[in-house]
Amino acid sequence: MNVPFLSLKDITAKYKDELHEAVIRVTDSGWYLQGNENKVFEDNYAKYIGTKYCVGVANGLQALELMIRACKMLYGWNDGDEIIVQANTYIATILSISQNNLKPILLDPNSETLELEPETIEKAITDKTRGVMLVHLYGRCLYNEKIDEICNNHNLKLFEDNAQSHGCCYNGNRTGSLGTVAAHSFYPGKNLGAFGDAGAITTNDKEIADLVRVLGNYGSSKKYVFDYIGENSRLDEMSAAVLDVKLRHLEDDNNRRKQIAKMYYKGIKNPAIKMPSILSAEKNVFHIFPIFTKKRDELQSYLKENEIGTIIHYPIPPHKQEAYKEWNNLSFPVTEKIHEQELSLPMSPTLSDEQVQWVIECLNEWK
Ligand SMILES: *Cc1c(COP(=O)(O)O)cnc(C)c1O
Repeated sequence: MNVPFLSLKDITAKYKDELHEAVIRVTDSGWYLQGNENKVFEDNYAKYIGTKYCVGVANGLQALELMIRACKMLYGWNDGDEIIVQANTYIATILSISQNNLKPILLDPNSETLELEPETIEKAITDKTRGVMLVHLYGRCLYNEKIDEICNNHNLKLFEDNAQSHGCCYNGNRTGSLGTVAAHSFYPGKNLGAFGDAGAITTNDKEIADLVRVLGNYGSSKKYVFDYIGENSRLDEMSAAVLDVKLRHLEDDNNRRKQIAKMYYKGIKNPAIKMPSILSAEKNVFHIFPIFTKKRDELQSYLKENEIGTIIHYPIPPHKQEAYKEWNNLSFPVTEKIHEQELSLPMSPTLSDEQVQWVIECLNEWK
């Protein structure tokens, strides 16, 4: 039985009629940027996340970069000021900090929960620390009240990288509404994915929202008048229309992901395979279902022979990348182990029970 890691074709096919209607509507409208589709999606997404404001931008990296840039400008941060962030994240999180001439302070997460621990954060705070970036990696909520308290006590901004966790909750409040401002990616493979690059920020802070919108529109608040040295980072109308359709189905899609995860947790019994600690249902939207094993590459080939698609998230941690040569000698043992042992199982709302069962059977038979 063939089990793809993720079939975007199947996901699109599931909502084909609504998506076609939206694409044709935008095509026929003759209006492709900064129009009504953006306004509708921004309103609906802000409502869904539970923030006052949502600003669409061109992709997730720019959402991260612009939200930090806006805070750096509004709060008068200096080059070299520090943002605390977990060492095990996708490179975009780190890039957005260093592109703002701020210094990412990398920290190892807890090896069982994959969470950044409040005590670890507190120890890393210096007089240059300006913010903490929480990355809800794999769809797992990393927020807790202790972290919020630390940020309040030390006057730090709390950023969320919500690229992998659309729909995730903490005590009924969605990730993306828990800190000062959050960045979202709608890269096609994310839980809420567009037909190309797309992103957004969400916040309750009007100043931040307004500034991100201006910075992403060439630094212009009025046509041909430029207040800042801005950039071009806008959500196009086609993407906004597609996202608005898929947003309507996000809860159902996430619920199916949760069912699949439950099957994996229940079914996988191979002692050579470790799964991350189980969170309460609302705190995980399973963007990725990671497993950990010492013979990761062998397992990946074995699954491939059985027509099961997997991906490694991610093979090399940011501090071991050529782009960050100056960090190559730093040591983050937990992060390094995660990158050595991680393998992501097929996870898509379109997988059938039979497909999931087949993955489980193959894993249990693996020696
Ligand atoms: C996907 C992703 C991003 C970047 O989003 P893009 O839209 O691809 O630029 C940032 N952070 C994390 C954790 C991601 O998974």
